[in-house]
Amino acid sequence: MSNTQTHHDVDVVVVGAGFAGLAMLRELRDERGMSVRVLEAGDDVGGVWYWNRYPGARCDVDSTDYSYTFSPELDEEWNWSERYATQPEILRYVHHVADRFDLRRDVTTGARVATATWDDDAARWDVTCEDGTTARGRYLVMATGCLSAVKRPQVEGIEDFTGQVLHTADWPREPVDLAGKRVGVIGTGSSGIQVIPRIAPEVEELVVFQRTPAFSVPAHHQVLSDAERAALKLSLPERREMLRNSPTGLSVPVTRRGALDDDDAARERHYEEQWHSAGFGFLLAYNDLLVSHEANRTASDFIRGKIAERVNDPALAEKLSPHTYPYGAKRPCVDTGYYETFNRENVTLVDIAEAPLTRATATTLETTDAAYDLDVIVFATGFDAMTGSLLKPTITGRDGVTLKEHWAGGPLTYLGLMTAGFPNMFIIAGPGSPSLLGNVMVSIEQHVDWVSALLVDSEAAGTPVVEATAEAEAEWVERVNAAAAPTLYMEAASYYLGAEIEGKPRVFMPYAGGLRRYRRECDEVARDGYRGFRRSPEPSTDLQPA
Ligand code: NAP
Repeated sequence: MSNTQTHHDVDVVVVGAGFAGLAMLRELRDERGMSVRVLEAGDDVGGVWYWNRYPGARCDVDSTDYSYTFSPELDEEWNWSERYATQPEILRYVHHVADRFDLRRDVTTGARVATATWDDDAARWDVTCEDGTTARGRYLVMATGCLSAVKRPQVEGIEDFTGQVLHTADWPREPVDLAGKRVGVIGTGSSGIQVIPRIAPEVEELVVFQRTPAFSVPAHHQVLSDAERAALKLSLPERREMLRNSPTGLSVPVTRRGALDDDDAARERHYEEQWHSAGFGFLLAYNDLLVSHEANRTASDFIRGKIAERVNDPALAEKLSPHTYPYGAKRPCVDTGYYETFNRENVTLVDIAEAPLTRATATTLETTDAAYDLDVIVFATGFDAMTGSLLKPTITGRDGVTLKEHWAGGPLTYLGLMTAGFPNMFIIAGPGSPSLLGNVMVSIEQHVDWVSALLVDSEAAGTPVVEATAEAEAEWVERVNAAAAPTLYMEAASYYLGAEIEGKPRVFMPYAGGLRRYRRECDEVARDGYRGFRRSPEPSTDLQPA
């Protein structure tokens, strides 16, 4: 329920009630005894799983590994029905957690944050929302997610289109009936690759507008039997240990083998085996796929070969095959029947790299080559990733400097957790941390634990004003750049690099050194008395001039 026009004076203001915001709330309130107010733009909790309701939306990390780990009771009572849960099931899980731990009472929904301003004299953050809700807190936690600021490309004339215009990341709450309609989908990233095979059998005609083909491997999705669920539960402690110690947060064994350590036949066998089981983990088939061109080419060629097998028309298979960047340099996709969908009579692929989109009219979407009659246009064009949701509100730190100004050349953080000049503001799983390069649930929980430990330590020491130093920030930014430099990540126009938005600074945003190394680094910083953070007592009001 929305609490418009209300004011909340609390210890901690958290922005966002997705997985990260709810975890932060539970930890700080129930484990650390702090008062917390969560401000959420949506009309309910769930974050990305609240908004992305398009047909076919589901997780592509095993749900068992995409779950909270803080409560053995929760593990015991919750049963995932499928290997990769659907969006409705994930949302049910979030609701269950919110109810089970009585989180909703501290969440204000329908409250999109407009401004957050640091009051240096009082050492408080003042937050205002578009609906009039205000909050004041000693700490501000941005749990806004890396994939939540929706990207809506400008298509000339789109406002004249008389059919329905939808976006996968802002799908209507009410059911959308696509049966018998002529539907155009723009975008072939993870969202497009999920929605396309799902709607193809029900629509009259499906036109897919592809700018860059994706690398996708079979998800191997399956419904879990009772016996499989029971076995998964038994293996939880071991799986969790593996997640915590893995560079990716995935329960995939780390291999020490490089692709060229195997001869051609052995490598082909290994890829074949992985193809039939690994899903997202295919990228970890060898340990050098993201650092060696030669190694990567073996995997890229293997996947292109599979696309050729899955698509009947060789010319179409070629159009669907990526050639302009190495496998994994853009976030890889997993699919269920994606390529086979193009064998259907009612599905057409339009290569808009070759013949770009020009405009929409009342009834068509047009390229330089042709006009396509459509009833519905679906944008599956993704997000202003990583920084979009942080820069949307006006966040003002010390001396009136805004985050937008401080990050004009790209995001600057220390450990991805804080940014200099913005005291007591923390970011969960954002730029400068491993974030989107691994299982984000593992990243979220690591950040939540680490931030709450820092707050408790600072409060106990009487130094509750915490700030990353400019030196520590500069050094960490160097480390983030150095971790990415030798990788093939630098060779794709990806959202990791800010290439998805025109004019966005081209810097590699997530930390590519791996979750395990990152966790170790954070732990060492804490052990060294929070090296790189300046901590000070709150200003005494007695010392303020009259
Ligand atoms: P995305 O990966 O950024 O893909 C966007 C697609 O839209 C790309 O094919 C892109 O082409 C195209 N596009 C963007 N702007 C365009 C324009 N102006 N004209 C034509 N085409 C345009 O976005 P997404 O598919 O929503 O996925 C984003 C991320 O969300 C994923 O990488 C993943 O991390 C997460 N996700 C996860 C799941 C899951 O767990 N299963 C599902 C969906 C999404 P270019 O490549 O040429 O830019």
